[in-house]
Amino acid sequence: MSAEFDLYIASREKMVREQIVSRGIKNQQVINVFRKVPRHKFIDQQYWKEAYSNYPLPLTHGQTISQPYIVALMTELLELYDDEKVLEIGTGSGYQTAILAELTKTVYTVERWPELSQAAQQTLQELGYKNIQLQIGDGSTGWQEHAPYDRIMVTASAPNIPQPLIDQLKENGKIVMPLGSNFGQDLVVGEKHKGEIKIFNYGKCVFVPLIGDFGWAKEKESA
Ligand code: SAH
Repeated sequence: MSAEFDLYIASREKMVREQIVSRGIKNQQVINVFRKVPRHKFIDQQYWKEAYSNYPLPLTHGQTISQPYIVALMTELLELYDDEKVLEIGTGSGYQTAILAELTKTVYTVERWPELSQAAQQTLQELGYKNIQLQIGDGSTGWQEHAPYDRIMVTASAPNIPQPLIDQLKENGKIVMPLGSNFGQDLVVGEKHKGEIKIFNYGKCVFVPLIGDFGWAKEKESA
């Protein structure tokens, strides 16, 4: 991390207290990472004053950085113990990627918009992360080269868990993602046992669609 004076320490502390701890996130390592990662650095400077507020913020290409609580919840549900190999689909700003990289050994992340991936890469580099590899492409097919993964997080919603992601998940691995349509989604955890996925539901959420071969077709993007 750069040594530059961080004006946002107090805002982050407030965010952690009011949006993360008070809403039930309990894992202390997860909570501490939200104190540390400078969320404002991942968004356009015009939104810096809102960076620690309780709502999603716009990125380019109509995409959004999720609200801090949902990032924390998904991270807690992934259950990282510090040496997992994690695949993230939907790099977006790279904020969730940084949170994951703080908590585990290696993070592989895939984004379909080149501009978003490149901006995220620059931010993550400036902040000094060395355990992240980025790829541009359709993450609904996973990233076969580095499979299998201990954990997979998808930050865009699909009708079902894409089969390539199930195939690239290790036995006893976990996948966290939103399932549903633009009309309603559930946050689910999938656990892989004997090649089959067992689904646990953690309630309603709202994400942009996963656009790709094993997600939604492109023409439905704005449906
Ligand atoms: N986790 C991000 C939020 C991402 S929003 C953050 O912290 O900022 C979801 C992202 O998924 C968007 O950037 C969108 O472009 C991307 N996406 C949608 N479909 C995708 C696909 N098939 N492969 C990879 N990325 C995809």
